[in-house]
Amino acid sequence: MLHGKTALVTGSTSGIGLGVAQALAKEGANIIINGLGNADEIEKIRASIEADYKVKALYHGADMTRPDQIRDMCAKGIEAFGAIDILVNNAGIQFVAPIDEFPEEKWDAIIAINLTSAFHTTKACLPGMKKKGWGRIINIASAHGLVASPFKSAYVSAKHGIVGMTKTIALEVATEYITCNAICPGYVNTPLVQNQIRDQAKVHGISETEVVEKIMMQPQPTKKFVEIDQIGEVSVFLCSDAAQNITGIALPIDGGWTAR
Ligand code: NAD
Repeated sequence: MLHGKTALVTGSTSGIGLGVAQALAKEGANIIINGLGNADEIEKIRASIEADYKVKALYHGADMTRPDQIRDMCAKGIEAFGAIDILVNNAGIQFVAPIDEFPEEKWDAIIAINLTSAFHTTKACLPGMKKKGWGRIINIASAHGLVASPFKSAYVSAKHGIVGMTKTIALEVATEYITCNAICPGYVNTPLVQNQIRDQAKVHGISETEVVEKIMMQPQPTKKFVEIDQIGEVSVFLCSDAAQNITGIALPIDGGWTAR
């Protein structure tokens, strides 16, 4: 379905981003992967996307706190593939603390990576999409883009912000066959969540299993983690012709969390 298209997925060396990159590659899109991590591991990921899906995959290590590096990544992607047709803004980090104890540098990093980086990628990729008269922007927000939880002020602010940005972009490009949507997952078992499980077990003095059962799954009515593959498949759907008129939405994949 996506042969001849190119997708940039930020934060795709791990977790949800990697799953979305693989799902888009499976449909034939060339992929630009991005994210932090060990160089050899990242090269393995890049090479396996090419080998498994018979597409081209390029890695760019832009730090999502650095607008100059983000612009360079988009420019290099466009230079290599001619255009970036699909942009998935996925890179994200988390930090949990009461707001009066929240470290300022953590606030700044979360806003930069989880929100502002999507402004810079979108600004850089939109002109090419407009020129081609086709584009898809998918912002990986969160259930925390729709509702709040205590101690996550920066994350909840960034995720609500990206939902707002999603709607604004959708309106700005509505006549140009470009859609912009947010996906709002509940808890997905990725390294980001595994770190939270470890931290919460220490804070509450309970086992990691208890953290999952008693704390994490408490707001998620299905009592199960959302699967990475499910987010990949929904992303593919949002890139399909069937989804041409789906734009400006914040789509929960949260096991019923935000139905309450
Ligand atoms: P993850 O930690 O597995 O992956 C995060 C990715 O972002 C990694 O590739 C990492 O290298 C990259 N990254 C982090 N800081 C970066 C930086 N400064 N520059 C470039 N890349 C950077 O996390 P995940 O759970 O897969 O999260 C992906 C997205 O999904 C995030 O935006 C997160 O907020 C969102 N999300 C996750 C969950 C969940 O339960 N896991 C739920 C809702 C939303």
